[in-house]
Amino acid sequence: DLGLKVDYASELNPDQLLAATTIDGKVLVIAGAGSGKTKTLTYRTSYLLENGVPPKQILLLTFTRKAANEIKSRAKTLLTNTLSDEQLSEDVLPTSKALNDITSGTFHSFCNRLLRQYSGLLGINPRFTILDTGDAEDAIDLIYKEKKYPAQTKKQAFPRKKTLQNIFSTSRNRRIPIRNLIEDNYPDIAIHIPIIEQLAVDFHEYKRANHLYDFDDIISQVVRHLKSNDKFRQLLQENYRYIMVDEYQDTNIPQKQLIDLICAPASVSLMVVGDDNQSIYAFRGANYENILLFGETYPEANLIKLEQNYRSTPAVLNYINALSAQITLGYQKQLYSNASITGNKPTFSRLSDETKEAKYIADKIIEHKTDYDYNDFSVLCRTSFQSNYVQLEFMERHIPFIVVGGIKFVERRHVKDVLAFIKILYNPNDTIAWHRILTLFQGVGAVTATRLTQAINADNNSFEPLLLPKFSKKSPQLESLHTTLTKAQQAESVETIIELILGFYIPILKTIEENWRERSEDFRVLKNLATEHSSLDDFLENLALDPPNDSVATTSQPDENANDKVTISTIHSAKGLEWPVVFVNSLVDGITPHHRSLDDFEELEEERKLFYVACSRAKSRLYLTAPDYFASYSGYFDKPSRFIAELSADEVEVKSSKKLLETLASDDPVWW
Ligand code: ATP
Ligand code: MG
Repeated sequence: DLGLKVDYASELNPDQLLAATTIDGKVLVIAGAGSGKTKTLTYRTSYLLENGVPPKQILLLTFTRKAANEIKSRAKTLLTNTLSDEQLSEDVLPTSKALNDITSGTFHSFCNRLLRQYSGLLGINPRFTILDTGDAEDAIDLIYKEKKYPAQTKKQAFPRKKTLQNIFSTSRNRRIPIRNLIEDNYPDIAIHIPIIEQLAVDFHEYKRANHLYDFDDIISQVVRHLKSNDKFRQLLQENYRYIMVDEYQDTNIPQKQLIDLICAPASVSLMVVGDDNQSIYAFRGANYENILLFGETYPEANLIKLEQNYRSTPAVLNYINALSAQITLGYQKQLYSNASITGNKPTFSRLSDETKEAKYIADKIIEHKTDYDYNDFSVLCRTSFQSNYVQLEFMERHIPFIVVGGIKFVERRHVKDVLAFIKILYNPNDTIAWHRILTLFQGVGAVTATRLTQAINADNNSFEPLLLPKFSKKSPQLESLHTTLTKAQQAESVETIIELILGFYIPILKTIEENWRERSEDFRVLKNLATEHSSLDDFLENLALDPPNDSVATTSQPDENANDKVTISTIHSAKGLEWPVVFVNSLVDGITPHHRSLDDFEELEEERKLFYVACSRAKSRLYLTAPDYFASYSGYFDKPSRFIAELSADEVEVKSSKKLLETLASDDPVWW
């Protein structure tokens, strides 16, 4: 008896226990869905604290801030629940409070904090602002237009800003030179390679000059400093002695480098957990090989496999295992369950169109509602576009729901506008934010916006150039912009700043958006967030790196059933979560798998993994659906998803489609 409060051996199985209590060295936990990887991280966190590890030495990296907070709050419950009130106040309360001192969050938020905290040591300006993907695209576009590169050819159109941003990002995250990337993946634009390479350099310099960091910079810059600055590296290696990473399969190369640089000394403890079958972010440069490479980077590492699944009923698990067996690359895993009740087989139903499909889902929810809360249901879609009919149907049937994933709150135009004002107050060098604001005004075009921004930057970032007659005569609003910004500069709280900005911005919004009233609803979310943050940089960091998922406008009946809602989510955003009843819709070839992936082995493999992630969210009931006719694509996708057809009728019960049954029975399916 070590005198520990939590009974680890009775709460964890032997493999989980080993993982949670091996605190020294390097550990890789590799396991299938629902085998308790995240649970093990939770218990390891409380175990570290119970063994006197100072919380400041713990670094917990997860895919979302919410996931990190969940682990911490569960660890806290563990430490406090097992004790009487008396014991609690004496021994454990300090330990459970200590959870607040753990450094936790996403790679981006961790690196963002490092860059600001160590700005002196690294010789950088701490008041930088973050460019999200859309901002980065705009910046690239702006530079391209301003630089007027000599045309290589007029015949081959120059790629669009989205493509360029994607090329730059992929090139960095996968460490592939732009030239090779384009020659392999975008042969049509190969003629433009010299300009694109130059543009990448110019983009980089532009960001440095204006104290702008895009998402890739935040991590890459920390890696660069870790490599070149011994003092910085040693400081981090002394500060963070116990490092844990969830969802390791979705880390990219710079993220792996970051971990490896901090964890280089044998004395730094590292535990990563992941499932190579669930790597679904290759499009963002994630590299599932990081898992496969772990043993090479750390030859002394412990490899622990978890093989018991606790999430799903045997009937659902049977299906998940069959899916997993179809995935070609990676560790082989077969999960087993000790549950005594087999449960219901997953079903696959074909409906005539999207409306019928949505009705079917709503009917099933109503049917099961006697046994479950709304919280217990989720509808998982390939992209948020596939949720439109479901949302309409739910509204009509008064089924409360929340939409997760898809167009993020901060990607909405009016939210970006308001944030642009806040960004220039924080970093008046933020030329992208200036452009966004200035071009809102009638009479101010891109050229004037550029000149005005340059004048402001040249004038030591004072707002006075807004009043210069040569600019102010273009638009009378520039003068009131000056007044608003000056007032906001003196405001004491983030809330007041937002009030001032909205007072100025909403009248403009009225003139540009018919549905301004509905859009203004989102500002409530902004104001609420503002009250939670005491400083602008906190507020901006939070919004840029861990934005709220749902805007008010996409949540039905915001006030009723505050917490009891069906989740409608993209599959990507459902990672790591679980529900008793899960629906996966639009299961046809062309959507899942996506048509762009059909002739590329690796992309198709990733689609397969995505489907595996979706199905493995289900605890008791899994409903798979597909419409025959898609009004939203005005056409037919007449082949059911090959992922379903690959499985035998033993694993999935196929309903309501004679055609599919016949196809499944025949040896030579005609439709793939
Ligand atoms: P994913 O791959 O989807 O992220 P995971 O491996 O992280 O899954 P968890 O989310 O940690 O799995 O656990 C899945 C479910 O199984 C949770 O409800 C968890 O509480 C339960 N569970 C895990 N381990 C045990 C155990 N030893 N005893 C009882 N329940 C467990
Ligand atoms: Mg997990």
